[in-house]
Amino acid sequence: MINTQPVIAIQNINHYYGRGALRKQILFDINLEIYAGEIVIMTGPSGSGKTTLLSLIGGLRSVQEGSLKFLGTELSGSSQSKLVQSRRNIGYIFQAHNLLGFLTARQNVQMAVELNNTISQSEAIKKSEAMLGSVGLAERINYYPDNLSGGQKQRIAIARALVNHPPLVLADEPTAALDKQSGRDVVEIMQRLAKEQGTAILLVTHDNRILDIADRIVEMEDGLLTRDAQNVVSSPKVAEGV
Ligand code: ADP
Ligand code: MG
Repeated sequence: MINTQPVIAIQNINHYYGRGALRKQILFDINLEIYAGEIVIMTGPSGSGKTTLLSLIGGLRSVQEGSLKFLGTELSGSSQSKLVQSRRNIGYIFQAHNLLGFLTARQNVQMAVELNNTISQSEAIKKSEAMLGSVGLAERINYYPDNLSGGQKQRIAIARALVNHPPLVLADEPTAALDKQSGRDVVEIMQRLAKEQGTAILLVTHDNRILDIADRIVEMEDGLLTRDAQNVVSSPKVAEGV
């Protein structure tokens, strides 16, 4: 991991909301690097700036101050088309799964494949079904989201985020709406796929019970990154022990 370029390299990022007298600084001098295959969990109180930082990294918001490089390309000051380009290389998983209700599980995943690739429909279907199989939904590919549980819906969202093998997945409180066991299952699937595919994951969570899947834990407080440490109980070792 040492000589490889980071997937994300952030230097001295500041961010503000509002204008004039209402202008308020939300992020303060953020520095963060994330490498291929690394699972980084971000914790911190509500309102501390986690979603704002994720939206900057995801190219969903323009960088105001500082440097943000995605796979070596500077996104600060870059054109909208460049941001769109970088978004294609990122998988997103949100608290609400954001699936389309009028599409089946397979069609939801397939849409992500077809937006990013020029492959035949039959290939796209094959890829989508394989991906749904690897999140444990082989039996549910033709179900509509409304007929599936919260955990199953979130697994479709994972399949959709990872089907194109993006170098980076951003997940904003993906287990918040799930019960304990479903939340656990969902992050373990993310962890396994990330390791198989070499995907970097940045996952925001309030859920202390899933911290062990992280390689690194960073903490945000009042717009500052107050902690950035290797996770001493990260799960490969733990998993072997149990
Ligand atoms: P977190 O995800 O850690 O809860 P957010 O990044 O959502 O934090 O919010 C950080 C701060 O920025 C909060 O005080 C929030 O009220 C404010 N904020 C978030 N989004 C906006 C916005 N679009 N406009 C103005 N203020 C915002
Ligand atoms: Mg948030």
